[in-house]
Amino acid sequence: MVLVPLPRMTTKTVGAMRVDALVDSVGPTRLPEELLRDAPDDIAERAGDWVRPYLSDDGRMILAYQSFLIRLDGRVILVDCAVGEDGNFPARPDWHLGKSNWLNHLGLAGMRPQDIDTVFLTHLHMDHTGWLTRNVGGVWQPTFPDARHVTSAPELAFWTERHSDFPYMSTSIPDCVAPVQKAGLLGTVAPGDEIAPGLHVVDLAGHSPGMIGLEYRPNGVPLATFNADLMHHPIQMAAPQCATIFCADPDKAVAVRRRKLADYAAHGTVMFCNHFPGECAGLVVPQGDGYRFQSVG
Ligand SMILES: [Zn+2]
Repeated sequence: MVLVPLPRMTTKTVGAMRVDALVDSVGPTRLPEELLRDAPDDIAERAGDWVRPYLSDDGRMILAYQSFLIRLDGRVILVDCAVGEDGNFPARPDWHLGKSNWLNHLGLAGMRPQDIDTVFLTHLHMDHTGWLTRNVGGVWQPTFPDARHVTSAPELAFWTERHSDFPYMSTSIPDCVAPVQKAGLLGTVAPGDEIAPGLHVVDLAGHSPGMIGLEYRPNGVPLATFNADLMHHPIQMAAPQCATIFCADPDKAVAVRRRKLADYAAHGTVMFCNHFPGECAGLVVPQGDGYRFQSVG
């Protein structure tokens, strides 16, 4: 397999925080109407020309699978763990036993796995837990042995109990999450917690039962947010009423998206969007009944 350079976000600085993107993969996935419930047929036309660079020539949504590396006040925090390597994902042939440049991106950002002090998991879907472990001689071992790993208690409880009911999760809980838990490295946080100076946990439940994000509010105003899967693709900003086929509670997912987009538009908050390709940090700009994404690349 040949690993080619992928489009990715350039390093960003917001206040005292430095953010790098660590990319696993980027490429065309589904058509908008295949992922989004009740999407109008002309959703791309309604959104406008700004959305074209985020779609392939045949109209499919280009998505990234990646992590964010935060440096703040001496802390090194990893947000989410993408798809990983060597994963057993027969339901997703493009990821099954795959390889990636993710660790090289970590090195290019000047860090090694042992330098990370906190791994923050917004939710436990399989495209966010991959790099929690590596397959070493047939045994899944924690990638970040010196880090405190955290997610929300409802998220951990739901997926620990129910993962086998969802074929798309494949073996991600036993292979990626369970070894970290068994090593005593996994704990929980709750909305309202401050995990680093000015960096607060926020409730984004809806897409996944206990999904959480981070807001950087050093002075009370949200300067930046790591908003997990609040949106999967920029086109959802033009149609915030459309949940995805993967949303656990579609109504709740729509409500939290509307509330957060209004808040971020009002405050000029920089959103770091996990699945947006390329320059994935940007602002929320009102447009018609919804919004558009304005990259700060
Ligand atoms: Zn995701």
